[in-house]
Amino acid sequence: MSARGDRDWDAATYDRPQAMTPKIVLLPGDGIGPEIIAPAVEVLNALTTLEFEEHRFGGASIDAHGTAMTDETLEACRTADAVLLAAVGGPKWDTTDPAQPRPEQGLLGLRKGLGLYANLRPVKPLPALYDSSPLKRERIEGTDLLVVRELTGGIYFGEKTRTADSASDLCTYTREEIERIARVAFGAARSRVTSVDKANVLETSRLWREVVRELHSREFPNIELEHTLVDNAAMQLVSSPRHFDVIVTENMFGDILSDEAAMITGSIGMLPSASLGGEGPGLFEPVHGSAPDIAGTGAANPLAMFLSAALMLRHGLALEAEAVAIESAVDRALAEGLRTRDLGGGASTGEATRAVLQHL
Ligand code: NAD
Repeated sequence: MSARGDRDWDAATYDRPQAMTPKIVLLPGDGIGPEIIAPAVEVLNALTTLEFEEHRFGGASIDAHGTAMTDETLEACRTADAVLLAAVGGPKWDTTDPAQPRPEQGLLGLRKGLGLYANLRPVKPLPALYDSSPLKRERIEGTDLLVVRELTGGIYFGEKTRTADSASDLCTYTREEIERIARVAFGAARSRVTSVDKANVLETSRLWREVVRELHSREFPNIELEHTLVDNAAMQLVSSPRHFDVIVTENMFGDILSDEAAMITGSIGMLPSASLGGEGPGLFEPVHGSAPDIAGTGAANPLAMFLSAALMLRHGLALEAEAVAIESAVDRALAEGLRTRDLGGGASTGEATRAVLQHL
């Protein structure tokens, strides 16, 4: 078993009958999205038989249909066995006009539409990349943490208001929303859960703390629980990342902390994520965005996309051996010196793909 695969995420994996040949909806999205999803399909095809159905998403869907996600795309995702997404967004669709469609609306709509309340982001730097991180090797060595981010509640989904001179975003959480994400976190923990909030200021955080504390004493007394304020957590993530086992936090804090945590692995181009939780399929995507600054140059690092495909095999399709095969191939390619530009090397997307395929 791969070192990456030894946490128990069963609390969040879904259990539904799967077709003989699993159907995967591919959402390439924008920017480097199409450049990294095609190699991921190559890698998957080298391992197993899957049926792929591709749909426009994000900016590409706005251009074609006027909306970031059509009803047809959402329905295709609902009836798939898993959804593999690259990234959305770009300057072409950047707007501050609330009446205009934005690529991220597709992402939020898909998460909500599939009931994906748990976003899991494992952060484990590989020894081969210790010196690629902007943090000192002795700080990051041995880090092996999981960020569990609440994905369908909080300020990203609250009511929004806007006039010419004022704006507001409402942040709400219910006991049920907090309890179900905390249960995923405790289920995945080996020894400790760090619950991150801003309980000294926010009412939602005070409820968060209370609910997590109650669940802990009721169902998970053997796991250590600590409460950390988000500003302190941001500092500790770079000063002593080894301290963390599982970090559980609300939607916005998790968004920010997991990007910060990505730098421990050397580059945001290395970090995969899984979004799970509902009755339906899971969504698997790299943590990074559409990187419009390097789109079309062949410099995109496809490894986070490959590792997201591995998470899909493990947590979406219960294909553990195939997941391990991808992870080991990535590890070995890096150990043999593969470095894309973001990792300080010169390998192109195509060269990185070939290096990984060679080790499958
Ligand atoms: P980004 O993650 O796209 O890029 C940040 C930096 O990291 C850039 O310098 C980029 O070149 C680099 N980078 C990212 N992924 C890389 C990869 N695979 N290989 C090599 N380098 C990589 O974040 P951003 O620049 O803040 O956002 C760009 C667009 O992406 C925006 O429109 C944003 O809204 C969107 N975005 C989408 C998602 C998503 O689809 N889940 C997430 C974050 C941002």
